[in-house]
Amino acid sequence: MSENENREWLGELDHPEYKLALAQFERAAARLNLDPNLCERFKSPQRTLTVSIPIRRDDGHVEVFRGYRVQHDSALGPFKGGIRYHPSVTLGETAALAMRMTWKCALAGLPYGGAKGGVRCDPKILSRNELQRLTRRYTAEIFPIIGPDQDIPAPDVGTNEQVMAWIMDTYSQFKGYSVAEVVTGKPISIGGSLGREEATGRGLFVTILEAMRHLNLPVTSSTAIIQGFGNVGRHTARMLSAHGVQVIGVSDSKGAIYDPRGLDLARLLPYKEQTESVVGFPGADPISPEDLLEQPCTVLIPAALAGAIHIKNAGRLRCRILAEGANGPTNLDADVLLNDRGIFILPDILANAGGVIVSYFEWVQDLQNYFWNEKEIQNRLAEIITEAFQRVLARSLSEKVDMRLAAMMTGIEKIASAHLLRGLYP
Ligand code: GLU
Repeated sequence: MSENENREWLGELDHPEYKLALAQFERAAARLNLDPNLCERFKSPQRTLTVSIPIRRDDGHVEVFRGYRVQHDSALGPFKGGIRYHPSVTLGETAALAMRMTWKCALAGLPYGGAKGGVRCDPKILSRNELQRLTRRYTAEIFPIIGPDQDIPAPDVGTNEQVMAWIMDTYSQFKGYSVAEVVTGKPISIGGSLGREEATGRGLFVTILEAMRHLNLPVTSSTAIIQGFGNVGRHTARMLSAHGVQVIGVSDSKGAIYDPRGLDLARLLPYKEQTESVVGFPGADPISPEDLLEQPCTVLIPAALAGAIHIKNAGRLRCRILAEGANGPTNLDADVLLNDRGIFILPDILANAGGVIVSYFEWVQDLQNYFWNEKEIQNRLAEIITEAFQRVLARSLSEKVDMRLAAMMTGIEKIASAHLLRGLYP
């Protein structure tokens, strides 16, 4: 691609998150001395699809939503990645997330390439029926490029197991028979996997404990602050607390709460369920979500959206470990500053890989029609993610690079070697 064409192409994907994903990739590629021909290929996705999704709102008028599916690289196997429903979804953001999925799957040793999809909408203001119509029409529009051997969607921000059930049903209606293995993160009764819902949280929990062990931090006198109390934040909080870590602050899209003596998770979880927010939880102090991030703690867990940690707050964080539950929560300049300050970073492609690892288990179980028990799933997840953590840590120590660079280099190297072996078609 010429410089000009390259710029034009990137223009279509222009988005701060895409720039961040690209910058992180380029940093790792430079360190790896990656073949420039391969570098060019990795910088842009293999395929992007933009679709219009007309749906009838409950009041009878038709509204057209914009949706995407981006497939980044398929050298290792079918594409894999979640579907996001959020007002900020764009092509560039989806492409950035697809690229991250490529490195994430490769790092965990899964036979997948990276993809991501999304619809620009606010699922919180859509009724259940509208959400169902939106999901079914989106599935129909991306139908030509998804499938169990082709591209397997999963939940992400704003989607859940019900949305996955509608995707599975719509795809199955088109085919004329049930195809459970087209999507992961489904309800258990229609081919979902035990342990999938909590999987990202469990992976995060396991890597945090590994990091604490490495840094000689005693688990029981540790504290955690969590930004985002959705699927990932909630399960991580629950598991950390059950192991004696005091969860001292949490935030969600409506606000934040803080109690340096530790929040009572047994009461907070049902409170969030009932009121749909952590705000107003009796016994804890209200605090602004920005200030919460700057309170002293052992582990800070951004588990919401991208861009939470930036140059303005990175110098003020008072955590020992930053565990990235979200995708791309740390900006590039903040990353440099945090590393200089000696904060141990568990990068997203490692820390939040638990979700896609158990998605892989779900897909394998569906393909074989043979289901594993919960202990097997938990143990296999822990085994894979611990091994990935140890590999990344060993590389970070031996090559004197930060954890993110070590993780990226490991993922990229895997894809690069697959490309070199497969060669360039035609
Ligand atoms: N959306 C999740 C992620 O970002 C899970 C993807 C999947 O299970 O395919 O890793």
